[in-house]
Amino acid sequence: MPYLAKPERYTQMQYRRCGKSGLKLPAISLGLWHNFGHVDQLENSRNIIKFAFDSGITHFDLANNYGPPPGSAEENFGTILKQDFSAYRDEMIISSKAGYTMWDGPYGDWGSKKYLVSSLDQSLKRMGLDYVDIFYHHRPDPETPLEETMATLDLMVRQGKALYVGISNYAAPEAAEALRILKELGTPCLIHQPKYSMFERWIEGGLLDLLGEQGVGCIPFSPLAQGLLTNKYLHGIPEDSRAAKPHGFLQENQITAERLQQLQELNTLAVKRGQSLAQMALSWILRDDRITSVLVGASRAEQLADSIKCLDQLSFSEEELSLIEHVLSD
Ligand code: NDP
Repeated sequence: MPYLAKPERYTQMQYRRCGKSGLKLPAISLGLWHNFGHVDQLENSRNIIKFAFDSGITHFDLANNYGPPPGSAEENFGTILKQDFSAYRDEMIISSKAGYTMWDGPYGDWGSKKYLVSSLDQSLKRMGLDYVDIFYHHRPDPETPLEETMATLDLMVRQGKALYVGISNYAAPEAAEALRILKELGTPCLIHQPKYSMFERWIEGGLLDLLGEQGVGCIPFSPLAQGLLTNKYLHGIPEDSRAAKPHGFLQENQITAERLQQLQELNTLAVKRGQSLAQMALSWILRDDRITSVLVGASRAEQLADSIKCLDQLSFSEEELSLIEHVLSD
């Protein structure tokens, strides 16, 4: 049976303008870093993507190195696109990135024109696409001149291989410089993708202000701290969790007694608000209107169903906010 997307999908999601651009993104976007590689079950990956799209999630975030093995998330996504989503390409925002190690030798890493051009060509081939909607430089490169990296992003747009460009993991001063160069080149930076959650607050020290002032979107990654900010680890480490998987990036030693104590207290507050902990963690990020979208991961469609419900309750009282600060400062 060919997949038919649910007709009511656009009534369930909120869409937010990405900075001062013409593009709107869903408040919740889906990332394919974990759970979409060759080590995972393709049918489960397919179900998650279908569920996401049926729920109004139009944005799917990839990178050259997602898997494992590197490249396999793009390959699997390409297979699913071809089999189920060929009629829906114009309703999807697909992003990819390059900047971390992808292949051996001096041209498979960082930020040179040589690496980025080859990598995007490989990504397009793996996904079976003519263009990506957003292409990111994945992390700053301390050695390559920023002008070269940004000129390459501009080139990709002019070649029609990317519609928009973004940067990821750039601190505020280097982000400011990148935005300036891109503006001068005539390809404004659409969006920044930083790590941000209740446990990871660095963007509050200037980056978020910069993005707000410059009209650049912001899409935080790992908003659930890779699953920590959910009810998942409250009673130990489940067998099927990221922390238990050999290729998972969440390490057992990050789940300390102090963290668990904070999680219990945050969970109590979430329950009082009528939310799951995951929902509260996402609402807390989305309450700032400079945030365009939160970029979540999921190992099952049910997790996405839970996370999306955060949209029912985005506001916080002053008391709730200060209680959260109090818990986090313990
Ligand atoms: P999250 O913080 O959302 O963690 C996702 C994990 O949390 C899931 O795999 C699942 O864990 C658990 N989870 C999710 N929802 C629920 C729920 N409702 N209830 C219980 N558990 C839940 O994000 P990720 O760390 O996965 O990152 C998201 C995306 O951000 C990536 O896919 C990628 O696109 C992007 N990213 C970008 C980076 C960059 O450098 N630009 C770096 C890292 C990520 P489990 O698997 O254990 O079930």
